[in-house]
Amino acid sequence: MAKPMPSEAANEFIPGWEMVIGLEVHCELKTRTKLFCGCTNSFGHEPNTNICPVCLGLPGSLPVINESAVELAVRIGLSLNCKVDESIFHRKNYFYPDMPKDYQVSQYERAINENGYLELPLSKKMVRIERAHIEEDTGKSTHVGGGGGRIHGADHSLVDYNRAGIPLVEIVSAPDLRSADEAREYVSELRAILVASGASDGKMEEGSLRVDANVSVRRLGSEEFGTRCEIKNLNSLRSLVRAIEYEAQRQVELINSGERVIQQTRHWNEDQGVTTAMRSKEEAYDYRYFPEPDLVPLSPSDEWIAEIQGRIGLLPAARRERMASLFASVSAGSTLDQIVTAVGLGLDDLVVAAVECGADPKLALARATNEVASDIGNLSNLTVANFSDLLMMEFESKLSATQAKTVLSKMLESGSGPQEVAKSLGFEALDASILEGLVDQVISGSPKEWERFSMGEDQLSGFFIGQVMKLSKGRADGKAVTSILRSKRA
Ligand code: ADP
Ligand code: ZN
Ligand code: MG
Repeated sequence: MAKPMPSEAANEFIPGWEMVIGLEVHCELKTRTKLFCGCTNSFGHEPNTNICPVCLGLPGSLPVINESAVELAVRIGLSLNCKVDESIFHRKNYFYPDMPKDYQVSQYERAINENGYLELPLSKKMVRIERAHIEEDTGKSTHVGGGGGRIHGADHSLVDYNRAGIPLVEIVSAPDLRSADEAREYVSELRAILVASGASDGKMEEGSLRVDANVSVRRLGSEEFGTRCEIKNLNSLRSLVRAIEYEAQRQVELINSGERVIQQTRHWNEDQGVTTAMRSKEEAYDYRYFPEPDLVPLSPSDEWIAEIQGRIGLLPAARRERMASLFASVSAGSTLDQIVTAVGLGLDDLVVAAVECGADPKLALARATNEVASDIGNLSNLTVANFSDLLMMEFESKLSATQAKTVLSKMLESGSGPQEVAKSLGFEALDASILEGLVDQVISGSPKEWERFSMGEDQLSGFFIGQVMKLSKGRADGKAVTSILRSKRA
């Protein structure tokens, strides 16, 4: 693939200023059970039904490490080009009602994965990964009444410990990102890697991926970093972009008005579109980290790491290569964008399979990244055979582009095949001879235009197509009409 020019967008947001962004992404691992006990790891159950003495931290209970959580953490490390090494667990002590043990088991000094990198697919920028360590998730509090979901002013609070003890990997990037768009590209690529490696379902809307964004600003050309703020718990790409842009703007305005940025943890208010202070560095917790006495160091053997490597599926970069190989050439621009989108949404297997069934690659990619992507929740309604049949019908002009899009949307809704849907919509292809008859009718009705077209005024083809469309009530295919017109003129 050709390399596009690096994006200049980074410098355009606030003229004369540059953003510096480092992201901490929490990823829930797709294990069957929790990190240190046999409780079920799943989303959406009745509150406090997946709990036991271990994840509630009751006296006398002891943690046992979940081997498959460690495997998935190693998969993440290998997929992010990290050094996978011996690591130890620490207790991070703090009081919060959603954390029953009053400490969180995490990795502090020596993380299982360190010093990796990820390449952004469009800008080709390398983003360094400082570490990707294992830790346990906390429970979840819900503040009811009055406070708009926040604890201040709430009537009462509810706590659900189902999430307490679910295995997480926290992926910490270096401060290498320079715009909100780069941050978005990083998170969507990271998400695609986490899903492809089998480590996570990547569902941001269910909280499987949660992003903390560290943001600072500096004058363009300055070597030094500014003071950063950390915006907690962004759970969609849209919030990530909005929060970063708001925060950078806020910091530039502060500095321009002669004030200082104070290092703070901030909260993103989605409705108001602003960040607000949660706590400043001075109020920061002293976590009193100490080694977890109930767990031995993790030391994955080279053999096990090699086995795990063998179980990692095709990663996004390789998937993009595979997609690109369907085309004669892919330069920067729409095809590359569509390939990145298809892989990011996990639609590349569908495209590749349809092309293997004989579908046109360009058409398959376009329909996948537009119509299928916009109704991705119904993807299970679409079989490869039905998808490739539809693409063939469009390619052979049995359906116009507009008709094919409508048919595909209905196929996703209903799970039916393209012929059936086309028929029910009255999109049955106009027989070639019927179409030719319509063209003849239009020609004899417009002899002057026909003469000019015959003399080489190509732009008149639009006129004829329009007339045939009218006559056929929109069922004619423009491309087919053009070729009939050409053959009649010759
Ligand atoms: P802490 O020890 O306070 O958690 P780290 O050094 O681990 O701080 O950094 C946390 C995150 O903040 C990382 O993702 C890092 O890239 C990012 N970061 C560090 N300094 C800055 C800065 N000046 N501006 C933006 N992000 C930063
Ligand atoms: Zn448990
Ligand atoms: Mg940190």
